[in-house]
Amino acid sequence: MPDARETPRKTDICICGGGPTGFAAAIALARSGLNIAILAPPAKIPAARTAALLDGSIRFLQGIDAWVPEDLDGAALRAMRLIDDTGSLIRAPEVTFHASEMGLKAFGHNVPNSRLVASLRAIAAGVEKIGIIEERAADIKLDDETARVFTETGVELSTRLVIAADGAKSLARTIAGIDVQNWSYPQSALITTLSVEYPHGGVSTEFHTRSGPFTLVPLAPNRMSLVWMQAGDRARQAMEMSTDEFDRLVERQAQSIHGRMQVDGERAVLPLRGLLAKQFAANRIVLVGEAAHVFPPIGAQGLNLGLRDVAKLADILPRHKKDPGCEAALRAYQAGRQLDVRSRTYAVDLFNRSLLSSFVPAHLLRSGGLSLASTMPAFRQFLMRRGLSDVSTPV
Ligand SMILES: Cc1cc2nc3c(=O)[nH]c(=O)nc-3n(C[C@H](O)[C@H](O)[C@H](O)COP(=O)(O)OP(=O)(O)OC[C@H]3O[C@@H](n4cnc5c(N)ncnc54)[C@H](O)[C@@H]3O)c2cc1C
Repeated sequence: MPDARETPRKTDICICGGGPTGFAAAIALARSGLNIAILAPPAKIPAARTAALLDGSIRFLQGIDAWVPEDLDGAALRAMRLIDDTGSLIRAPEVTFHASEMGLKAFGHNVPNSRLVASLRAIAAGVEKIGIIEERAADIKLDDETARVFTETGVELSTRLVIAADGAKSLARTIAGIDVQNWSYPQSALITTLSVEYPHGGVSTEFHTRSGPFTLVPLAPNRMSLVWMQAGDRARQAMEMSTDEFDRLVERQAQSIHGRMQVDGERAVLPLRGLLAKQFAANRIVLVGEAAHVFPPIGAQGLNLGLRDVAKLADILPRHKKDPGCEAALRAYQAGRQLDVRSRTYAVDLFNRSLLSSFVPAHLLRSGGLSLASTMPAFRQFLMRRGLSDVSTPV
């Protein structure tokens, strides 16, 4: 879009937010012929933030010509190992799921968020039907026929539909009048990247501890990202340690499975919380990604679910090109996303609480599930399919 000041500008869709879901939505919807404006203020994404994109997400991005792995500096995830480190009486067996059991080369790819967003932004910049405006949305005025979006410098866009991809504190969601359920966890996630002595071989390892998962995920080559969930005060203590002390602590926690480990990036601590919007669409505004749902970083769900939101929109909106913000489109989106988002939210929440709980039946259930997974091929397949959940066929 050339000069952002010729106002008011008309577009079919205005997307608020230039994170991974915002740019993926812009590319997917422009490919189906819709005119898109995306408000994408430059974002500073911590280098330690990475996301494991599962096979379905990758196939979705490939389908819209938005998957360029050589730009991403990530690594394929060929196996996932789960280790019970809860010290509980009822200990689950170690289980490793191999992508080859599903006939796949990899379950997915772990990529730095900053690289993914930069790659999607560059692709969007080359698509004729997408105009990128590097400003925040400051206000949205709604009426029956249109939505008018105003940027911080007063640029006005007139549109049929607003896609709220503006994250957990979404302004567009508030203006749509959509309420949220918010909750917090007694944990924080300590995140960083590490170089490791022994090759990871594409295996991600999740230690289930009494304070939450300690997860090491492959990055290219001989590097791994760490997501360590623990009580907030312990996470802060670990942040204050010298690099050497921290390296040894992580190595011990990882039971030295990768030999010597050295932090090679910044450490950051993020408080854990959850958020679930009570609706996903209202008043010419639809919610995608963290504007609709925020998860603790367990089981690589958040962004994969966000891309399934986008895939659903890409399925519905081309059928409503005259008015993508019409009631029928909004109703179809709400109905299409309800089950997937709610069931994942409750499953992740339940799993996290089962680790924190000292309630014996909770441990029995979790370890029983993993025992079944280690011995029953059909149950393993079921778990792997649920974990991967195909983007092209959202539940
Ligand atoms: C430690 C950690 C590990 C994770 N690991 C995984 C994983 O392995 N796999 C996975 O699938 N998910 C993972 N997630 C979740 C994943 O990171 C998020 O789901 C994803 O980043 C959300 O993307 P988004 O585009 O919805 O929102 P965001 O990335 O928050 O982007 C929102 C954008 O909107 C912009 N914005 C805000 N307000 C406005 C406004 N008024 N106008 C315009 N723009 C605005 C912001 O600047 C930002 O750029 C993890 C999360 C954490 C915390």
